[in-house]
This record gives sequence, structure tokens and C-alpha cells, in this order.
Amino acid sequence: MQNHATVRDAHQGKLGVRSVESIHKSTTFHWVGNGFQVSTYFPSRGLPPERVSPFVLMDYGPPKEFEPLAHGKRGVGWHPHRGFETVTLAWEGAVAHRDNAGHAGVIGPGDVQWMTAGRGIFHEEYHEDGFARGGGRMHMMQLWVNLPSKDKVAAPAYQPITSADIPRVRLPDGGEVRVIAGAFAEARGPAHTFTPITMLDVRLEQAGKLSFALPSTHNALAVVTRGRVRAGEEVARTGELILFANDGDRIDFGAEEDSHMVFLAGQPIEEPIVQYGPFVMNSIDEIRQAITDVETGKFGPVPA
Ligand code: MN
Repeated sequence: MQNHATVRDAHQGKLGVRSVESIHKSTTFHWVGNGFQVSTYFPSRGLPPERVSPFVLMDYGPPKEFEPLAHGKRGVGWHPHRGFETVTLAWEGAVAHRDNAGHAGVIGPGDVQWMTAGRGIFHEEYHEDGFARGGGRMHMMQLWVNLPSKDKVAAPAYQPITSADIPRVRLPDGGEVRVIAGAFAEARGPAHTFTPITMLDVRLEQAGKLSFALPSTHNALAVVTRGRVRAGEEVARTGELILFANDGDRIDFGAEEDSHMVFLAGQPIEEPIVQYGPFVMNSIDEIRQAITDVETGKFGPVPA
């Protein structure tokens, strides 16, 4: 889809508002371990890697009620990652995380965990014990953010970003933007990223508007987790992902009802991507090496 957005503004020398390239709805769900029922929006046929780079994967778990669990755990046990970062957002519920680099923490409502797997890590992701025992609603998302080739060997790292760390910007027409990464208005997100990334958690009240500048070269998308949001001439509803064309230097949204969405953008990493299971590398040989390194203990020991 192309529209007026490609017309240059002669006064500003700017491109104008981006058009919507496509809207995607994911209708299939799968379980990650026994704790997270998610829909994988990408990678997928409709959202090829080069259109969503530097993001590699998006698993979105809409609000889901869990019964109290008398014994045991819900989630996914020790598994490796290499070559990218995992970013976990929770809106409801609580996720307990632990890795073999010595980091541990709980991702509660409004919190974000930004973990650099880099050269290799093992971690586990479970419902936090108190939440599991009491039961309740889980609402979360996990993103995989690619690393440039030169940073795939980065040391494992961990940014526990609590709700209180995330600046909030009130919108004049009703609503609020939480700035997790990148800049919005006068605020700057606390996340340290290897490549330029914008990550905004957005609430818009009915008739609320959101408009901001973004480099036209940055890939941009938004997932509407609740409500009905207009972008250009398109409308996205709960569960729909908007992919923006790279044809403008402004993003415009308008809410047709009270809405919540996650906005993601970033400078694409223009390198080959080979993903195999929990590894994201640049070549098949590097994937083989990752498997060998796991088998020979180079990702470090897995705690008992
Ligand atoms: Mn994982």
C-alpha cells in the first residue's frame, strides 16, 4: 500500500506520515513449556526478517487466567541462547527468571527484563512462585532482538528494568507513553541497546492521538493488545500487528476506543540471519558451532 505519505513536504524537506504496509493477525497459539500460551507473530511468512529487523521474534501472550497451582512449577526449564537478546515484558502476572551467569529476578506488572544472551547463556523462565500458588492472570510478551555480528560474542548481561525505572509521558489528548528504549518527547528509555531501538508501551484513551518523528530507515511496527487504533487509513483491532512502510519520517496513531499497544522500531541490521531453535547467528557454520559449544560445556554449567 502506498499513499500520500510518499509526497515530500517542500517546506520541511521531509517525507511526512508513514503509510501502513500491512496488518497481521496471529490466530494460532502454542505453549512455551507449560507456562506461557503465546502467539508467534514473527518470524512468519507475512513478516519476513528484513522487514522486522532488528527484531527477530515476537511471542505475545494475551491475558490468560491460571488456576492456583498446589505443587511444582509452570514455565520453561534450563535452555541455552546465543547471538541475540531476549526482552520480556509483563503487564499482569509475574515471571521468575534465573540464568547461569548468576542473574535472577522477577518480572512483575509493568516491568521489563532485557537479557543479553550474547556469546551464550542458559536460563529458566517460570511463573513466580507466589503467583503460581495463588493463580491469576498472566499477560506478557517476549521479543528477541538481534545483535550485529560483531556483538554476538558480547558477554551475557542482564538489565532488570522495573516499572518505576520507565519514564511516563502524558499525552495531551488522553493517554500515556512509557518509554522503555529510545527517545520520546523529553524522555529517554532506560534500556541500553546495541543498535538504535525505540520501544514504547502506549495507552491511548478514546480519541487520543499519538504522533512522533522516527527516521524513515527504521523498521516500525505496533501490536494492538487492546482496543482499536487507526494508523493512516487503516484500523487495527485487539491482537493485530501493524507493519509500517519505510516511506515517511512521522508515525501517527489515533485511538477509536480506549487502547493499549506496544510500538517497536529500530535500525535494521543488514546481515544474514540464520535462526535455529534458541540460536540466532549469521551462518549455518555458526549454528553448528553453537550446538557443539553447548554440548562441550562452553555455555557454562547448568545449575542443579
Ligand atoms: Mn529463553
